[in-house]
Amino acid sequence: MKEKFAIYPQCKLLSISQGLTGKMSGMPAITSSMLCNEHCQKLSAITGSVCEKCYTKKYLLSRPNTEHCYRENSNLLSSSIIPKNQIPFINAAFCRLETFGDIINVTHLQNYINIIKKNPHCVFSLFTKNYATVFNYFQTHKQPSNLSIVISSLMLNNPFNIAENLSLPLKNLKIFTVYTKQYAEKNGVVINCGKSRCIDCKRCYTKNKNPIYISELLK
Ligand code: SF4
Repeated sequence: MKEKFAIYPQCKLLSISQGLTGKMSGMPAITSSMLCNEHCQKLSAITGSVCEKCYTKKYLLSRPNTEHCYRENSNLLSSSIIPKNQIPFINAAFCRLETFGDIINVTHLQNYINIIKKNPHCVFSLFTKNYATVFNYFQTHKQPSNLSIVISSLMLNNPFNIAENLSLPLKNLKIFTVYTKQYAEKNGVVINCGKSRCIDCKRCYTKNKNPIYISELLK
């Protein structure tokens, strides 16, 4: 008797990073690649920006297999809404969204929101410099309670000005700024990120009513 096999079309799934090192060790993450992100490329041309000094570019260029996975994530997240049955289950209490890239468009953000909603047991922290996409989205959509938004300041030594740029309050908002050692020492900036692992610190994942400020030294 001849056996019959069903042939299913190949289905690409999101890659979830589990083996990151440094302060990210032990923290799962979903990320895209900055190398194929036009917004990241534009920001990296701005003098005095953190993106001008982007260390992830060098990292990704030296790890083509990793970069390929993140590039695939970029395509999956930004091209269409991921079907419900392909949204990953995150087997963790915390998960970072974006470590080596940023939100590309509103489809990308909506896919993250769908992942967050499907995983209510997990607290997510979304790092972004794509302020317009995030702020516009939450004008008309409710923020999930298990989502912290980390606004990554574009300019070195200069925290993003919430009062000037955000008309609606977002919950669990953090302002993340990178400082040069020289500036931090001269101006008494308290550096509160970088000494411990995220999984131990969790500052970016805790609930807060008013924005909290996080400072890290330039690597
Ligand atoms: S403040 Fe804490 S949780 Fe946030 S990035 Fe730094 S080490 Fe990680």
